[in-house]
Amino acid sequence: MNFVFVSGDPALDLAATVLSRRGERIDLLSEPADLERWTSLCDGLPDRVSADSATFESALSLREAIYRLALDRVLERPFEPESLKAVNDTAAGPLPSVELTDAGLRVSGDLTSALSLVARSAVLLLADPGARLKECGRVDCTRIYLDRSRGARRTWCGMDECGNRVKAAAYRARRRASAADGERGPNG
Ligand SMILES: [Zn+2]
Repeated sequence: MNFVFVSGDPALDLAATVLSRRGERIDLLSEPADLERWTSLCDGLPDRVSADSATFESALSLREAIYRLALDRVLERPFEPESLKAVNDTAAGPLPSVELTDAGLRVSGDLTSALSLVARSAVLLLADPGARLKECGRVDCTRIYLDRSRGARRTWCGMDECGNRVKAAAYRARRRASAADGERGPNG
């Protein structure tokens, strides 16, 4: 399965590497190589990092802490203290370096610095009272995203990921219902 970056923030995108959190969890980061690939695909993070098992484990802990805080924020309840400490501690670490080149931005650093940047992004996002965080309207998705749309009317994390799937399912359900009506006949 491919990674998607539709949440509007790298911290939320990291949290969303677990799909279907309330059902049968699907974890897209099953080994360090998955994390290396995720990092290289995520905008604003170093292109080439290597993940050992210890850093991989700390990335997974950070991910769960970010998710917990984002969910606390969506549910408008106080932040869970342990997750708060985990995210703040990681955010305090050294960050990747940035460089302007003719080819654009070059970000370099190791995986630890990439995680610090992701944690810092979570801190800035969750501290922003104007940031509208929502959970995707497709029940099984459970992705939390930042709604930047005018009037904050966005319902899905992404149209391709969820919006079109829900609409297609509703269409199929309507067709099934009208087929069933047809079988029963006009008076049935
Ligand atoms: Zn979704």
